[in-house]
This record gives sequence, structure tokens and C-alpha cells, in this order.
Amino acid sequence: MTRVGVLALQGDVREHARVLTALGAEVVLVRRPEELASVDGLVLPGGESSVIDKLSRAFGMQQPLRDAIESGMPVYGTCAGLILLADRIANPIAGQQSVGGLDVTVQRNAFGGQVESFETALTVDGFDEPVHAAFIRAPLVTEVGPRAQALAALPDGGVVAVRQGNLLGTAFHPEVAGETRFHELFLDLVRAA
Ligand code: GLN
Repeated sequence: MTRVGVLALQGDVREHARVLTALGAEVVLVRRPEELASVDGLVLPGGESSVIDKLSRAFGMQQPLRDAIESGMPVYGTCAGLILLADRIANPIAGQQSVGGLDVTVQRNAFGGQVESFETALTVDGFDEPVHAAFIRAPLVTEVGPRAQALAALPDGGVVAVRQGNLLGTAFHPEVAGETRFHELFLDLVRAA
């Protein structure tokens, strides 16, 4: 059975666990380095990236996460998870760090606050049918570096999904919209790794 983790420090952990379980994976809630060492892939959930950052450092998880990414572990980040995966944050709060790995710059809260949250149908590279995407205080990828590849953009060209090898990031939340294809792609990467 495919054994994957969801980083469970803060955020919509349960929604990801539910989708992954429904797709047949064994799901571990990851808070400690030992738990991270026991999984073959990891989801970084949505939530508040500055809080997840702070907690990940308090729990001694930042370096283990960096090591896991460095070693090629498949990691999928949604929204705050994408911010954590980004090498560069355009507008961090004071002291905010990212785990990094994805050669992109992200801008947090690029669409405004909670009231500016929206849902839309997105065309995504590699998927036949459009994705129903929920954007909740979402970030935008403002720069895609040479090692990363854009998978989806809004009509105005703003990049909202990226991939770099075994790393996958979306600015939106497929897990709250009944969309499973990103999680399926993530599990395919885990099985192939
Ligand atoms: N605005 C949040 C942040 O900066 C992300 C929101 C989300 O994950 N839905 O971390």
C-alpha cells in the first residue's frame, strides 16, 4: 500500500487525508521527523503559511523537510503548502521562512482577503477536463524559474499551478472542491519514486 503523509501542524489536514484515503493510500499525520521518515510522499496542506513555518521550526521539521525534498520525495503543496514549497516569497511576514524546493516566487494573498475568495474552472496541462479550483486567500506564482514548469494559469496569465520533478504546487484547493486528479498525480509520483 502507498504510505503518504499530510503535514499536520495547522491547516486543512483532514480534507487532504480524506481524499488520499479515498484514493486507496495509507495516510500518516506527520508532525515529527520520525513520522516523516516513515512515509514515501507528503502533502503540505492549505492554512496559514507563516504559522505552519513557525510550527515546523518549533517541531524541528524544517531541516528534515528540506532533506526529504532534496532526496527526491514527492511533495504536493496546496495554497499555504505552495508558499512553503516556494524558494522565494515576495511578501513574507517578518521572519517568515519557506522550506523551499520549487524554483518559483510566490506572492501571498495575491487576490485579497477572505471575501475575495473565488472558484473557477481551470485548464491544466496534462488533464483532459478543466479543474474546478477553489481559491481561498490564495497566493499567485509571480515568477517561474528555469527549473520549474507552469501547469495552469488564470485567464490573465497568472500562474496558479506548477511542477518541478517530484514537487507539485497549486495556489488553489482541489481537496475542498471534490477534485482528485492532483492527488492522483501525486500518488503516481510516489509510486514511481
Ligand atoms: N493566505 C494564506 C497564507 O499566506 C494561504 C491561504 C490558504 O492556504 N488557503 O499562508
